[in-house]
Amino acid sequence: MTKREATSGIAQAPIAELHVHLEGSIRPEVAVELARRCGITLTEDEVRQRYAYTNFAEFIEAFKWVTSFLREPEDFALLACDLAQQLLAQKVVYAEVTLSVGVMLLRNQDPQRNFEAILAATEPFESKGLRLNWIFDAVRQFGPELAGKVVDWAVQCRSPRVVAFGIGGDELQVPTNDFRHVYRRAAAAGLHRLIHAGETGGPEKIREAVELLGIERIGHGIAVIHDPAVMDLLAARRIALEICPTSNLCTGALATQLNLPSASIEQHPLPKLLRHGIPVVLSTDDPAMFHTCLSDEYRHAQSMGLSESELAQLIDNSFTFSFLPAHQRNARHFRAV
Ligand SMILES: [Zn+2]
Repeated sequence: MTKREATSGIAQAPIAELHVHLEGSIRPEVAVELARRCGITLTEDEVRQRYAYTNFAEFIEAFKWVTSFLREPEDFALLACDLAQQLLAQKVVYAEVTLSVGVMLLRNQDPQRNFEAILAATEPFESKGLRLNWIFDAVRQFGPELAGKVVDWAVQCRSPRVVAFGIGGDELQVPTNDFRHVYRRAAAAGLHRLIHAGETGGPEKIREAVELLGIERIGHGIAVIHDPAVMDLLAARRIALEICPTSNLCTGALATQLNLPSASIEQHPLPKLLRHGIPVVLSTDDPAMFHTCLSDEYRHAQSMGLSESELAQLIDNSFTFSFLPAHQRNARHFRAV
C-alpha cells in the first residue's frame, strides 16, 4: 500500500486548518497578478526562485517582498478568494486565518477596508461548505504600542468573524512581559489569544506566553522538547501547539532546535509531543511559500510513524482546539450543516 492510499481515509475526512497566514498563501500565479497591478512584470518562475530559503531571515525577506504587492482592498480580496478555493480543494470545512494587521498598519493601510473586502470575497464560500474566521495578528518586533492598535482594530471591525488576537514575527525581540497589558485588553474585548513562540526561540518563550499572557494556543512551540516541565504544563493545561512540519524545515527552525546543520521531516518531534499528551493540531503556516498543503502535512505526519488513530486524533484536535463556539467544535457539526 502506498502512503497516499494509506491516508486516503484521512484525505476524505473533513478537516479544519487553524494556523494559516493569508499573506503566506500568495501562490506564484497570484503574485504575478498582484505585481501586475503594481505595474511590475514578474514570471511565476521568478516568484518560485524567491520562495526558496535556507534560514528564517531569508524567509522573512521573501515574505516582505511578496506582501509588498498587497496594496489595495481588492488585492486582499483576490488573495482571500484564492486561499478559500485552495482550502475547499483540500476538504477543509473550517479555517482560522491569520491576518497581519500589524503589517497593514506599518504600510498605512486601512485594516477595516481591507477586512471588509476580504469578508465580501470569502462569505460566498460558506454556501460551498467552507467557513472562515479570522485572527488579527500583530508583529512582535513592532512593539506593544502597535500591537495594542491591532486589538483596537479587532474591536473596531465589530465582526463576529474576528475571533482572536495573536502575535507573530521575531520572538527573540521585545520581552514577553511587555505585551501583558495588550493581551489583557484582548481578553476583555472577548478575543481568544494566541502567539507564535518556541519556533526559533527557547522553551522559556512558551512558558512566558502561558503564564504572563494567558494564551490558549501556541504557534509552533517545538522548542518545548528542551524542557519536560513545559511539556507537562502544556499537557496539563490543554494548550494546543499548532505544528507546521514543512514550515519548520523550510525556515530552518527544526534544524535550529535540534542543533543540527539540517533536519529531515522524520526528525520532527510531533509524535513525541502528541504521545506526551500535548494537544497537537496540524497546520501549514504559509502554504504557498513552503510549497505545501494540509493533505501533504497529514502525509508527513504519517511518515513520522503516526498510527491511523493518531492521525484521526489530529483531525479531531483541529476542531476541538478551534475558537468555534464549544458546541460546534467537532467535524460532525460541519457534516450536519
Ligand atoms: Zn505562523
